[in-house]
Amino acid sequence: PALGADPSREYRLGIMGGTFDPIHYGHLVTAEEARDALDLDLVVFMPAGSPAFKAPERVTSAEDRYAMTLLATSANPAFDASRFEIERAGTTYTVDTLRALRAHYPSNVKLFFITGADAILEILSWRDAHALASLTTFIAATRPGYDMARAAEVVQSSGIGFDVRYIEIPALSISSTDIRRRVAEGKSIRYLTATSVIGFIKKNGLYRQDFSERVDEV
Ligand code: ATP
Ligand code: MG
Repeated sequence: PALGADPSREYRLGIMGGTFDPIHYGHLVTAEEARDALDLDLVVFMPAGSPAFKAPERVTSAEDRYAMTLLATSANPAFDASRFEIERAGTTYTVDTLRALRAHYPSNVKLFFITGADAILEILSWRDAHALASLTTFIAATRPGYDMARAAEVVQSSGIGFDVRYIEIPALSISSTDIRRRVAEGKSIRYLTATSVIGFIKKNGLYRQDFSERVDEV
């Protein structure tokens, strides 16, 4: 049955946004932990169309990023991959996505936006921060070496009224940047992401060239 179909109960929808260039076990573990900890009914992975903070020429095509996201999530019945952002023209802003989801689902569907702890502080600078705060609860996952207490303090003192749940995830320092770098250097990426994703990367020759042009901050 569709999310929100039974008006007598609450549904909890997780949204995992990212560039997913490529998706990896850090993303998947984070989403699974969030699902478990916050009792989410479904986690939708949304590859960004044209990510707000990344230059377009540095990002793999949206179709390829979506394909890898679909491959990596397909075995988990509580995971879904969405084309919503990649089909929108122009820059992706999370607030627009959340507004669209809010308009699409009945009010008994609660929205949870999942991010890595590194992204939580950036949220304060995102477009329409106040609107964001009213649309969703945030789930912030710790990344290795991250000062969670400090982040909570900064969010708190912003006065914007974000509802943030902090969750601990098994320490994973995997990043897409590192995976791209490894491929470019001919190193193994086995056990860093799903085998299906590794196969897709190899088959399509992703990340082999222009390595120096493609390094992003982790
Ligand atoms: P890049 O290295 O290209 O920046 P990334 O690995 O950070 O890629 P993104 O697509 O930028 O991946 O991240 C999507 C979301 O997943 C962000 O909220 C980010 O904080 C989170 N995330 C990324 N890697 C991890 C990880 N290893 N553990 C937990 N969260 C992660
Ligand atoms: Mg990142």
